[in-house]
Amino acid sequence: MKLSGKVALVTGAGSENGIGRAIALLLAREGASIVVNDVNPDWARQAAERISEAGGQAFPLAADVSREDQVKQMVETAARKWGTLDILVNNAGITQAVSILDMSLEDWDRVVDVNLKGTFLCTREALPYMIRKKWGRIVCMSSVSGKKGGGRIGGVHYAASKAGILGFTKALVREVSPLGITANAICPGTIDTGKDSMRLMWNGKPATEGLEEAKRSIPIGRVGMPWDVARAVLFFVSEDADFINGEVMDVNGGAYLD
Ligand code: NAD
Repeated sequence: MKLSGKVALVTGAGSENGIGRAIALLLAREGASIVVNDVNPDWARQAAERISEAGGQAFPLAADVSREDQVKQMVETAARKWGTLDILVNNAGITQAVSILDMSLEDWDRVVDVNLKGTFLCTREALPYMIRKKWGRIVCMSSVSGKKGGGRIGGVHYAASKAGILGFTKALVREVSPLGITANAICPGTIDTGKDSMRLMWNGKPATEGLEEAKRSIPIGRVGMPWDVARAVLFFVSEDADFINGEVMDVNGGAYLD
């Protein structure tokens, strides 16, 4: 039990085979009490139930991370429920396979708002609780897209928001580390969350072909699974990573090396 007595908020942790749910389950298995956030209330509830069934402690809180009022209320409710907040995983994110020429302002705003503004709002609201304890762990979910300028799906808005998360995390470290808080980022490569949207290639190839093509480009010979990312998050928030700060960890099977 690496996280006994800790309280963790994981955003976007509702979707069934998603990365956030795997993170929430793994942190709960290590003893953390989990606040399960998702914009979809049913998914948040289902994920919290799944954690409870597995013997963990979890509490669902629906909120849109891009809405300031909702984030404030979520963090306040979470801290009231569990008495504190030690760990924040900024996982909620959306993407959209659209070319810049077809990208509307609404498309741009929605993706940047959820991915980047959501990370800012959740972090700002969670920080006072961590500062009070002089201890906190923040993990931000970027993407290989944020490094190499685009992944298998997703457009310029997605890549820009994920690159922005890397700058955000490093700037955050400069401000909050003296207060006992570390912040790190993760760049997953292709992770199989079982959804048609992530299985579609830019050119609309069917899922099976897309995944086969993805596998061929990954030296390890398989795509990633949500658990691969969850283990990296656990490392960052456990005492194993007490001296690791402002780090960007690739979880991509060697598909992109820099
Ligand atoms: P997913 O769609 O399964 O999960 C995202 C979750 O976020 C969903 O449950 C969704 O309801 C929730 N969400 C969406 N908008 C929200 C909002 N405004 N407020 C709160 N919750 C919201 O996606 P995933 O593949 O598990 O992705 C998780 C994170 O990992 C994302 O940040 C994504 O960009 C990143 N990522 C994924 C991959 C991949 O290959 N799957 C690769 C690189 C990075």
